This record gives sequence, C-alpha cells and structure tokens, in this order.
Amino acid sequence: MMKMTFGQSIISIDKLVDTTDIETKKVVTLWINYLESKPDSLYDNPYWNSKEKAEHKHFDFLESEFDPSLYMGIPVTILNVKNINGLYQIKSIFASCDSTGKPPDILCIANVFAKKENGEYKLFNALPINRDKEWNHKKAGYIDYYFPFYHSFDSVKAEKQNAFMIDVCKNFEVPIKQVEYYFADDFNEIERLRGFDYEMETSGKLKPQGKSDDDKVYCGGMGEYYPHELIHVFINPNYSNCHNWVLEGLATFSGGSRGQELIWHIKRANNFLLKHPEIDLSNVLKLKSIDEYTDYRYVIGGLICELIYEKGEWKLLRDFLNTGKTDTDYHNAIELFLNVKQKDLNTFLRTELMNHAK
Ligand SMILES: [Zn+2]
Repeated sequence: MMKMTFGQSIISIDKLVDTTDIETKKVVTLWINYLESKPDSLYDNPYWNSKEKAEHKHFDFLESEFDPSLYMGIPVTILNVKNINGLYQIKSIFASCDSTGKPPDILCIANVFAKKENGEYKLFNALPINRDKEWNHKKAGYIDYYFPFYHSFDSVKAEKQNAFMIDVCKNFEVPIKQVEYYFADDFNEIERLRGFDYEMETSGKLKPQGKSDDDKVYCGGMGEYYPHELIHVFINPNYSNCHNWVLEGLATFSGGSRGQELIWHIKRANNFLLKHPEIDLSNVLKLKSIDEYTDYRYVIGGLICELIYEKGEWKLLRDFLNTGKTDTDYHNAIELFLNVKQKDLNTFLRTELMNHAK
C-alpha cells in the first residue's frame, strides 16, 4: 500500500488497484485530489462535474451523511476501481484502526463515479447513475418518486402526499418546489442506491426510517406516504430561527415519526412514563430515547406543537417557529404560548400526555 497524509487523514491505495493503467491512475488521482481539496466545505470544487454543481447546492450527496461530514478526517483506503465502458466506479473504505490489532472502526464503504467531461475526468454521484439503471420513476405533482422495480406504485397515496405538502406550504407560508422522494422496503436498498456498500448507522437495521437533505428525501419501510421528512425539506430552510425540538415536533405532529402517527407515540410514551414516575420531564430536553421507536424530541416536541395548534392554529405555530434556537428560548416560548413555567413542565406534560392518549 502507498500512503499519503493530509491534515489528520491518511489516504491509501489497495494493491489490487492497478495504477499502472493510465486511465485508472488518472481516476485515482482525481479522487485523491478531491479528498485533499477540503470537500467538507462548500465551494465551486474543480474536481466535481459541472452539471451536478449547477443543479444542487450540496452537489456531493454523501458529504453531509455523517456529523460533521463524511470527510471528517477518517483514513480512506481506495479498495478498487472498476471501468464500465469509460464510467469508473471508485470504491473506498472510510475506517480507522489502532496498533492493538482490534478490528477496524468502519464508518462506511462508499462508491463515487468518474467519467470524462470535456475531455477531463470529473467526479459524479452514484445516486442518479444507479437510479436510472435500476429504479422506477413516477411523478405526483411536486414529488418525483423513485422506487425499486419490485414495488407496484400506489398513486392514491402519492397524490395524497402531494396534496398534503401543498397544504403544509400554504399553512406555513413557504414556497413549494420540486422534490425527489426515494423509498424502498428496506433502508439498506436506499443506501446502496446512494453509493454505500456499508454505512455504520443504518446497515443491518430493518426498522422503518427516513432521512432528508436539501432537496431529497429517503425512506425505508414507509411507502409513498411519509410526510415527516418532506416537512423538513420545506420547513427547515425557511425557519432557521427555532429550536431543533420545534422542527422535529412539527414534523411529527404533521407527518408522524418512524412510520407512526403522533398519537401512537403519545400512547407509548404515556404508558412508559406511568411506569416511571421518577423521570423528571421538567428537564425534558436532556432526555433522549424512550425505546428504539420513540424519542422524546418527537413525542414531547410533537405534543407541544399539537397544544400550540389547539390554542392558535397555524398562525400560532408559525410564531412558535420563530422563537430562537437555544434551550432557554424553547422553554421561554412554551411559557409564552402555553403559560407553563419550566418547573411545572413535569406535571403539565404528564397530564397532557394522559389527556391526548385517550
Ligand atoms: Zn425529523
């Protein structure tokens, strides 16, 4: 293996990659140049193709996959380069290991493509290349649906979701735009489509899940109707001055979470909390998950949005979406809109969970 170092990261090339082949060498050099070009910062990167840069603000669809970035400095090994009639697939593993001989910590195994643009190799996302080869496409209004060939499309659900999103945009006074919605039975199929052979956070998990970035939504196990992630796509960029629990709460109140409506999560949380009187909800922002299906930020965040809606409908919810990002802002907003002080939240939330679980 050859080794090169940049910053905190190391790039290696597996011996199976034939860098004596001139074209392979050019492609490998392109990818290394890109990895060394601070790809975690957004600018007109010379190694990426111009079409995707023109069409997408975040043109490298895998960059923001991990927090803070796929390119956070984890060592990269280029595993192989495959030539498919001039389209090169570059497979890399992002993993670190120490000198103790423990198995490596694998972040992901990811594929990116390279082909010529005006005579020079440039990088391309795996997503559209795999999609156009392997997946079906149907359009329902503002939503471009992409799904595997085995799935028979439910256009009633698709139209329902499109109509719902038009309503959401109207209620929150945000512009509607075309959005891509990828769904499959299993989230791993979506990760493969996007270019991941393995992805630490999702590989091997079969529960329903969703993800969104600026103009795309990915859903596993939830079919044509899962507005939660779409709400993030339309609402988040237009309401930047609010707490994360407001955004998650709103998405759950309007569009459910992990394939279930808010009421399902409320019943579950209510049952759980009745058995756990020692849990103090006045510090609810410090609490994470009830179990693998229900997180406090979804169920309590959602309940608070529901209570605000009950009090002042969309107008009051829009105001709630502009109340600031910090935990103090969130508690102040609850006090302002629902007239509940933080010290009284435990009793208040337990009572409201009970009322809404009926
Ligand atoms: Zn969410």
